[in-house]
Amino acid sequence: MFQSLESTNSVSSKKSLTLDTSLRYLKGVGPKLAEIFAKKNLHVLRDLIHWYPRTYRDQRMTHDFSSLTAGSYVTMYGEVAQKRVLRLGKRKRIYEMIVNTSGGSISCKYFHLPYRGYFDSINIDQSVKVSGRISFYRRYPEMHHPDIHPFNENEKQEDELIPVYTELEHISQYKIRKLIHLVLSALKDAPEFLCDPLPKWLLEKYQLIDRFTALKEIHQPDAQFSQDYFQFRSPAQRRLIFEEFFLLQLYMAQKKVGLEKEHADSMTPSYQLRDQLKNSLSFKLTTAQERTVNEISQDLCQSFPMHRLVQGDVGCGKTIVAALAACQVIENHFQCALMAPTEILAEQHYHNLSSLLNPLGIRTALLTGKTKAKEKRMILEQLATGYTMFCVGTHALIQEQVQFHKLGLVIIDEQHRFGAHQRSLLKEKGKHPHFLVMTATPIPRSLAMTFYGDLDVSVIDEMPPGRQKIITRKTYLSRRNKVLGFLEEQIKKGRQAYVVYPLVEESEHIDLKNATAEYEKLKEQFTQFKIGLLHGRMSVDEKQKVMLDFVNGDIQILVSTTVIEVGVDVANVSMMIVENAERFGLSQLHQLRGRVGRGIHQSYCVLILGGGFSKEADARLSMMEKTNDGFKIAEADLELRGPGEFLGTRQSGLPEFKLASLVRDGRLLQEVKQAANQLIQMDPLLENPQHQQLKKEMEVLADKFLPG
Ligand code: ADP
Ligand code: MG
Repeated sequence: MFQSLESTNSVSSKKSLTLDTSLRYLKGVGPKLAEIFAKKNLHVLRDLIHWYPRTYRDQRMTHDFSSLTAGSYVTMYGEVAQKRVLRLGKRKRIYEMIVNTSGGSISCKYFHLPYRGYFDSINIDQSVKVSGRISFYRRYPEMHHPDIHPFNENEKQEDELIPVYTELEHISQYKIRKLIHLVLSALKDAPEFLCDPLPKWLLEKYQLIDRFTALKEIHQPDAQFSQDYFQFRSPAQRRLIFEEFFLLQLYMAQKKVGLEKEHADSMTPSYQLRDQLKNSLSFKLTTAQERTVNEISQDLCQSFPMHRLVQGDVGCGKTIVAALAACQVIENHFQCALMAPTEILAEQHYHNLSSLLNPLGIRTALLTGKTKAKEKRMILEQLATGYTMFCVGTHALIQEQVQFHKLGLVIIDEQHRFGAHQRSLLKEKGKHPHFLVMTATPIPRSLAMTFYGDLDVSVIDEMPPGRQKIITRKTYLSRRNKVLGFLEEQIKKGRQAYVVYPLVEESEHIDLKNATAEYEKLKEQFTQFKIGLLHGRMSVDEKQKVMLDFVNGDIQILVSTTVIEVGVDVANVSMMIVENAERFGLSQLHQLRGRVGRGIHQSYCVLILGGGFSKEADARLSMMEKTNDGFKIAEADLELRGPGEFLGTRQSGLPEFKLASLVRDGRLLQEVKQAANQLIQMDPLLENPQHQQLKKEMEVLADKFLPG
């Protein structure tokens, strides 16, 4: 039964073959292999040819046995001289083949077989090609789990640079390669396969090879260009990376054009309030602030909504940038709203913005969950009549009763804490208001272009002059007492401090226990100091109270399991101790560190590595000692942990690239973005017949990954 299914549907009958043909109809793939493929989301032929090599191996041959070193990867040709199974105890087996090569014999050992029947499929005296990593056993060279397959003389030339695929259980590398070759040769004549989604002019302009050639070459590379392949710079890889980025950027560009069709009120600047505010400052804006202010100002003049992200490290001065944007809007008699994720943050913003804006005669208000009913009624009325021009608040702002007279600008602080839904609820309080997002979490440019692709991005990459650097040191548990001694000195000088414990979600109670125990210990050790505890199991009110006590100086040392409120400033804090620092990501540590050094005192951040950390973790933390630049740290963090981890698991919706890497291919991404914008400008709705394939593929991607 299967026999007949296989022979009638195998790739030899090319007529019925398409990219959507199920993999199980491929010769050599039965239901069982198909199931293994399916586990990796490989279902149809299309999936298999887009299953790109993870890396390559240079298999140019080695003959010289004297040059073999342990750990090096080599390829040899030879004949199988001996096969045997060594029994170790009841169950364990070692499968061994001795291969005679021109330079000597090598023992090939398998502690488990890639698949059943593997050992039997290779015969004594057979000519084979063996590739693997060399190790030595009693000074004799051997290979563990090498790639062995029969070879004929013709193959010798072709197979010198071989692709290496992500491991699939029970399927050897050799088999994957063979299957992919089979698909490629069978699909040669399938017209839909030859149809390239990228239009000709684009290929020419960006010097890209066509899709089919690229697919062929990426799976069957020319050893001459091995270096290019290793670095993912071969024409084939470049073309396919370009394509992956392009589909996403095209989607973003189209979405953005959609936004530009919405009508927003243009805020022509009279510069009256703006200049007044600037003149009232005791400092000069940094170049980066100046640039950002201008970018926002230009956006506000357009008759479609601004959609901009302002990124800048803690302390770079985003508040004044927001205030200047507000001035331009208020000059035009429109209102502004700023939403912050917590009450403390909202209060802090309200305080800062009021002291900037009230002197100019701009009336401000604060609306949070804590606002008393009577006061709230008044605020709501003054917002509805347009008396209040700038309202700061928490989620309370998106309640239904909140109505604005004319809302012209929505500002969101620390936006990654708000869902898209909450943001749009606030936007809906106006008629396509301008939209500004501020974040203190530096995001590498490549990631921002992908994740926030429909936002324009301004980066404040410069600190106001004269900022003192936070001195950061990593240290080990054995020196913890020394650190506590230093802590004592700081508190005695009148400063305050944080002691932070990591929160690991799956073991919250353990962390809680750690922090609670530590809190008790510190209380015993420092009876003369006031020590507080903050953790995730406390109610919002309890947390708020502890935080306020800390802000007011009634708590001197705050032990905390949860991330201390991002953005809350306590100027008197001069020290932070992070316990088990190896458990934090670099960006997270940088965020934490931003909580100290907010005042005039020299500040310190001490990272204590817990027991059982890895060498890598140790090296990673050195980065924190070396730089205070959030963008550099973010780049390093992205490189180390990859985009998914970097953004946090909650931030789903980010497509996983098959080949492209935001770290490695950042430069190409910029080109791609340009290309996508250009294409959308020429053909906003992708109506041109030349762009139909592209449109189709883009929509498939959008359906798969991208919300709204
Ligand atoms: P963040 O970007 O973290 O929100 P803030 O807006 O709170 O930073 O600014 C931090 C501090 O730096 C504030 O006290 C602010 O007045 C001050 N500041 C902002 N811009 C400048 C500047 N160009 N020169 C000097 N001080 C500045
Ligand atoms: Mg801020």
